[in-house]
This record gives sequence, structure tokens and C-alpha cells, in this order.
Amino acid sequence: MNRLSPAIAAEAPPYDVERVRADFPVLSRVVHERKGKPGRPLVYLDSGASAQKPRQVIDAMVRFMEEDYANIHRGVHVLSQRATDAFEGVRDKVAAFLNAPSRDTIVFTGNATDAINLVAATYGRAFLEAGDEVVLSIMEHHANIVPWQLLQAEKGIVLKVVPVDDDGVLDMDAYAALLGPRTKLVAMTHCSNVLGTVTPARQIVRLARERGIPVLLDGSQAVVHGRVDVQDLDVDFYVFTAHKLYGPTGLGVLYAKYEHLKRMPPYRGGGDMIQSVSFSGTTFKEPPMRFEAGTPPIVEGIGLGAAIDYVEALGRDAIALHEHDLLNYATQQLSQIDGLRIIGTAPGKAAIISFTVEGVHPHDLGTVVDQYGVAVRVGQHCAEPLMDRFGIGSTARASFALYNTRAEVDALVDSVRAVKEFFGA
Ligand SMILES: *Cc1c(COP(=O)(O)O)cnc(C)c1O
Repeated sequence: MNRLSPAIAAEAPPYDVERVRADFPVLSRVVHERKGKPGRPLVYLDSGASAQKPRQVIDAMVRFMEEDYANIHRGVHVLSQRATDAFEGVRDKVAAFLNAPSRDTIVFTGNATDAINLVAATYGRAFLEAGDEVVLSIMEHHANIVPWQLLQAEKGIVLKVVPVDDDGVLDMDAYAALLGPRTKLVAMTHCSNVLGTVTPARQIVRLARERGIPVLLDGSQAVVHGRVDVQDLDVDFYVFTAHKLYGPTGLGVLYAKYEHLKRMPPYRGGGDMIQSVSFSGTTFKEPPMRFEAGTPPIVEGIGLGAAIDYVEALGRDAIALHEHDLLNYATQQLSQIDGLRIIGTAPGKAAIISFTVEGVHPHDLGTVVDQYGVAVRVGQHCAEPLMDRFGIGSTARASFALYNTRAEVDALVDSVRAVKEFFGA
């Protein structure tokens, strides 16, 4: 995620959030209607868990199923060829989205979790040995912890954990100190789903590369909130998940340098990933197909393509500016509430605000604000070690997206004040 230059900001057309909202059918929904009660307009502040879908994505998937649907890669008939072209076209689109050097560096997976598991199960199993170290951070999502723990149990690798300071800033001195002769991989988030911290990815990669250590970045949040260029980062592996990028569930992306993909053994075996199968010996396709066994999420691929088109049309810099305004406004407004503590105050953070309110359990807070139509996530956010680091069991989290408004921030703030009143906190 590169900083916005002021020139881009000055030239950008004004961001029309009401027009954007009109693209998302669910956002005009009213919740908690009861007899004699009109209900509340939905205030959706849970996009960090999964984003809502614009009409353009929904329509692209429906149209594809109505007009061009068939299984891909093996068919000679017209629909199979059209479907294959459409699906493989999305691989080009994803490559361009990440500025990957080639479409062959893009592997479709089930989600971000699956993509990290793929790297652990292939690269990790093949090239890491007992005593080898993987460096990750205390703020990783469980998806970037547990696959490495499974490898730890299987092969005896060692996990080294980089701490964060009280603001949620990654301790780069500790990071550099943890890179040693046994370090064989760095697996780090590019943006924390809890704190919003954007990690200094270029520096993380540079320090590792100087020592010949490959780096995996978990971009599940970073691709949503900013611009990502895998060549500029010079990163070895980069993963994200379609459903947080306004696309459908069931599809994730692994970018990997081709030199790695070429050396990695297959992940899952089955159709579509083989060259030829016989009981005397089976041969595999070249990457990326080698890692895509079975029928892929074809319709979901079409949806991701439409989601990328949607985000690109709005402009990633324009989206980042809009979200930044929401983040600043929400931080300022929430900070005025007595007893409210924001967890994660790193400079340059993304539009995610985790918080606790003294005297109110986050779960109760979430339940009560929901009565006001406000959807926030409560709990550990798949980051239990991070909760322990901050000495808390859970938080409430408001995560902002390209369709949120300042009025929705006001609704959040009002509902949190109502919660405090309700619990006498
Ligand atoms: C959501 C998320 C994941 C996992 O995404 P899935 O779609 O559940 O696989 C991984 N890392 C981060 C930082 C996330 O926010």
C-alpha cells in the first residue's frame, strides 16, 4: 500500500458515496421491523469479516449462469469455451490487480486460509526441516498461525513471534533480530484485521531478502483498503480472499513467484491438475494448474472479476481517501465517549476500529447496538494471541468500507452511548 500523492488527491473527482451505496441492494434494507415499529436502517460496519456485494457482482454471476455456464478447461463445446475464456480472463484481471508479472503466478484457492495452507503444505513440507524457523507476528489472523503450527507438529519447525507496541505498531527491531540463520520463511500480515495496522511490507521483505529468506504476506485486509503491487514489494507469496473485496465467498488467491511455484510439489490431487494419469506413474501440469485440482469455483471467479472491475472503476486511491475520512471521523467521535478504549492506534492504519467500553462486555455491546441496526463484530476476531497481548478477552470492531458514511459513524456513536446508558456504565 503506497502513500497517496497529494497530486492524485487533488485531481480525483469527488467521491459520491450515495451513488456507490445505490449499487449495493442490501444497504437499503431495514432490520428489526416489528408490528407497529418501522425498524432500523441497516448500518453495516462488519465488512472486515465479509463485505457486501454490489449489483455489478451479483448481476455478473447471474448472467454467467443464465448465459454461459459450463464446466471449464476440458470442453470443446461453445459454452465450455466461453466459460473457460471468462474464468481464465479473471486470472489476467487478478494478475493486473496485484501487478503480478504473469498470469501463471496466480493460483485460485478456496479462500485466504486455503492459500496459506497450500504454501504450508507444499513449500513448507518440501523445503522446511526440523529446527527451521518461521517468523510471524503476534497480530496474525489464525489463518496465518495454525497452518504453521500444523507444520510445527509434523516437522518440528520453530515459530518466532514478532511483538507489537501498545499502539499496535510492529516492532521492526525485534523483527530484524529474529531473522537468523535458521529462518526459512517470514509469514506476516500486510494489514491487521483487528488493529488496522498496516505493516511496513517493503521493509519487511527487504530485510528478509538481504538474508535470502522468502516472505509470505497475508493481504486479506490490505487489498481492500489500499493499492498492492507485488513486484514493487518484491514479495514471494501474497494471499487474499474474494469475499472481503466485494466478491463472492468460496474463492481465494495465491500469488507466488513462479520460481517457487515451479519447485513446489502438488497440493491436492485430482482432475485438472494432471498431465496424464496411469497406474505406472502420473504427471502433473505446470503451475498454476498443478495447484488447482477439481472443478474450480467458476461462478465465483466471474464474481471476483466483476468485483475487481468495480473497485478499479471507483479508483483504489479514491476509496482509500474516503475510508480515511471515515476512520479519522470515527476515531475522533468514539474517543469522546468516556470509558471507550480503542485498541490499535498505529499511524497510517486502515479503517478498522477495535474498541472496548468499560463496564460493558463486547458481546452485550454488539447485541444492543444491533437493536439500533448497527452491525459490528464482537469477539476475538480470529486473533486470540493478539487479544492476550492486550490483556483483553475480546473487543467490538467496526470496520469501514467504500460504501460507509459519516452518518453511519454517527449512528454507531449514538448506539454505543445508548449501550452505556442501558448498562449504567
Ligand atoms: C479474513 C482474514 C483471513 C481469512 O480469510 P478467509 O476468507 O476466512 O480465508 C486471513 N487473514 C486476515 C488478515 C483476514 O482478515
